[in-house]
Amino acid sequence: MTTILFKNAKVFTGKNTDFEAIDFAVDTESGRFINQETKAADKVIDLKGKYVMPGLINAHTHIVLDPFFKIGGLSSVNAVKTGAVVNTYIAVDNLNKLLKNGVTYIRDVGSSDNIDLQLSNLEKENKITAPGIIGSGPALVMTGGHGVELGLESDGVDELRKNARTNIKNGARNIKLMATGGVSIDGETPHDIQLSVDEMRAAVDEAHHKGYTACAHAQGTEGIKNAIRAGVDSIEHGIYLDDEAIQMMLENDTYLVPTLMAPWAINQHPDKLPDFMVKKSLAVQEAHIVSIGKAAKAGVKIAMGTDSGTAYNDFENGSSEELEHMVEAGLTPLQALQSASVNAAELLKIDDYAGSIEADKLADFIIIEENPLENIKAVQGDKIVYKKGKKVE
Ligand SMILES: [Zn+2]
Repeated sequence: MTTILFKNAKVFTGKNTDFEAIDFAVDTESGRFINQETKAADKVIDLKGKYVMPGLINAHTHIVLDPFFKIGGLSSVNAVKTGAVVNTYIAVDNLNKLLKNGVTYIRDVGSSDNIDLQLSNLEKENKITAPGIIGSGPALVMTGGHGVELGLESDGVDELRKNARTNIKNGARNIKLMATGGVSIDGETPHDIQLSVDEMRAAVDEAHHKGYTACAHAQGTEGIKNAIRAGVDSIEHGIYLDDEAIQMMLENDTYLVPTLMAPWAINQHPDKLPDFMVKKSLAVQEAHIVSIGKAAKAGVKIAMGTDSGTAYNDFENGSSEELEHMVEAGLTPLQALQSASVNAAELLKIDDYAGSIEADKLADFIIIEENPLENIKAVQGDKIVYKKGKKVE
């Protein structure tokens, strides 16, 4: 057992409300935080007043997509035209980028060829160094529905149930459902209602019977309400939230994963992307920001997610930038840090072993130069990343 004691750090554990002077220790073999006395540690690292917080958890990624289309053609705009080998290559590259940039756990919510599920197993067995992965496999979408490229077309209660069971059999720990249309695909709008309440409920029940979660891509108001009625654990995007939807989320303890990065990234590249996409993206941005701000103020639980993989929505600084967008939308910096640590861990049901700096939890943490509670952009600066107690090189 090799133990390292970290001294002179200011630490946000995920459970406290400010950075505090706390010494902490890790065991590099178990990869966990431990209770450790100074004299017994094999090694002592003086952090000289730097800031430490839990590794970021990103609850909404698509690791098989290349946001810059360099490898997968128009993969995130159009269809996954590449095969499983190339998509796996893209996914591994994206995982490396996430980890180097401080993301130590992800929930992938739509993948091809079960690549997320298989990489999740490799990471669990320590065969690869990567963020931990809660995978969903393919999203369940209605025939011709949103995200069909990364989805399994499913119609009617029986097919939803069957395909949810199949995904779970293949290793999915979350079921992704498409409740509405979206921005990135032509021929639909964010307001379109897609899977019905009954269809989604069948899949949600299957996930819950196994102790797993279900989430819904839900942008328009009616689709959002349908997904909440179906019992999903989180609403993804939540662009058009009215007061009733917010009330329903509070009553049902439904999480919100905003993914403000997704429309923002499209809107930075209007000349490089198809007209239909830019038009829809510009049209939703303002409403999206207002919805997220309102939900945060009302006390809806928020988990950080970016939708990385969609156009120009990168796997590098995107997660840190999402925190900045959340604060601009009205979250406090503390709420933003919680959304990427304890809240996301709770949503992913990994909070018994990850998401906070406490003895026996995975030693996933980042070291940064400045206090993000004073300036949330501090998370975007240079950082040192530890995954399972080992420094990421
Ligand atoms: Zn997505």
